[in-house]
Amino acid sequence: MRRTTVIKPRLSPGRSGQGEGDNHPPAGDYDVLIAGGGMVGASLAAALVSLPLPLKIAVVEAVPFGSHGQPSYDERITAVSWGSRRIFESIGLWEHMAPEATAIHHIHVSDRGHFGMTRLHAQEMRVPALGYVVPNRIIGRALGEFLLRQPRVTLLAPAKLGAVNVQCDAVTAKVEGADARLLSARLLVAADGASSTIREQLGIATRTWDYGQSAIICNVSVQRPQPGIAFERFTDSGPLALLPMGEDRYALIWTVASRCAPAMLAMTDTEFLETAADRFNGRCGRFLKAGRRQAYPLSLVRAGAQLHRRAIVVGNAAHSLHPIAGQGFNLSLRDVAVLADTLGDIAASGGDVGEEQRLAAYIRARRCDQLGTSLFTDFLARVFINPLPPVAWARNAGLLALELLPPARHLLTRRNMGLAGRLPRLARGVSPTRI
Ligand SMILES: Cc1cc2nc3c(=O)[nH]c(=O)nc-3n(C[C@H](O)[C@H](O)[C@H](O)COP(=O)(O)OP(=O)(O)OC[C@H]3O[C@@H](n4cnc5c(N)ncnc54)[C@H](O)[C@@H]3O)c2cc1C
Repeated sequence: MRRTTVIKPRLSPGRSGQGEGDNHPPAGDYDVLIAGGGMVGASLAAALVSLPLPLKIAVVEAVPFGSHGQPSYDERITAVSWGSRRIFESIGLWEHMAPEATAIHHIHVSDRGHFGMTRLHAQEMRVPALGYVVPNRIIGRALGEFLLRQPRVTLLAPAKLGAVNVQCDAVTAKVEGADARLLSARLLVAADGASSTIREQLGIATRTWDYGQSAIICNVSVQRPQPGIAFERFTDSGPLALLPMGEDRYALIWTVASRCAPAMLAMTDTEFLETAADRFNGRCGRFLKAGRRQAYPLSLVRAGAQLHRRAIVVGNAAHSLHPIAGQGFNLSLRDVAVLADTLGDIAASGGDVGEEQRLAAYIRARRCDQLGTSLFTDFLARVFINPLPPVAWARNAGLLALELLPPARHLLTRRNMGLAGRLPRLARGVSPTRI
């Protein structure tokens, strides 16, 4: 377990800076200061490093990479879309995740006890995979090791970003912990999760919708594995996703009413495995072994604004979605790619990366995808848990229509693959060697 990682910044020539042990560096130490080195904050730092510009970046993370209590790189898996794979590939990170990623070639969506069913195929989309299942721990390892190799990134962990002060020409922020200091930057990025304290300090209000549901996650092995197939099944006790992880293991994500979660966690492994296998009608045979079960309460959180003067809010701090469609991180990674484009364009023209007017271009560019993805996810979360007969009928008619209408299926699949709309440079699969 890596506990402390403190790398002093290397300042670009001609800029005043911080000496060893200097707790009060002058304003302008960094171009970008990122609060939170979770999946989104660390991805942003990595994306900025890939720009051919000497931006100096600091990442302050409360819990060290690789530590057991790390809330972002925990025991969950992430369904990484094809579009996200391209972003990671352009940054130079995918090769470090690929050996432990399992490709999804087909997605099978069904509604238990009803007629609706549809299948999505990578071949139909002319791609090698619709997406990949990657353990969060592996994403964290790849990001952590990548950032440690970058001379332009200062990684402070464990360290908490405390009070921030956004002024006209710079942002100053207090780092709390053993290595307390005051930092300053042109741009502050709040990537400190759904309960962001930085967002609160910026005075940005949030709208939260508690779904009253929890996701129970657990790794299982099954009797008859179906390589490369991911299953999404809607049942009377909530939607279940079974995502392939290697040869015979699957990640099970079961959304249940939160009041039922304690009972699901308290079941013996045998009871849990039998109940889950029954919901799949024996599609993968018997469920044989279960890993540790954990519950995540689910809510929709939306920040009222994502830009406040020299500060930007990203990731779960900006929008935290229901995991039913596996879109939360993928959406945020697209945000990251567009933000990297925007900051790259500003810096390349000699501008100030914290200039609010120019940052507004990022907010405009992301509005449609963010709204569309969060409305779509919210719709699924409500419709696929609703047992009322008319809703169930409409849901099944929708699934059947998708099965029978390839153009509609195509459109939906492209969106889920993160390929809809205008793509940022990193998502076009090109390394931004030129801005
Ligand atoms: C059960 C479940 C399954 C999911 N599956 C998928 C999926 O398959 N596909 C997908 O795209 N998305 C999925 N998601 C969504 C995805 O997990 C989130 O979008 C992602 O974790 C958001 O990352 P983040 O970095 O914004 O926030 P977080 O993961 O919450 O990270 C925030 C980081 O900030 C740090 N921090 C907090 N406060 C401070 C501070 N003051 N100073 C310094 N550091 C601080 C924390 O320690 C943490 O490391 C899933 C979510 C859940 C709950």
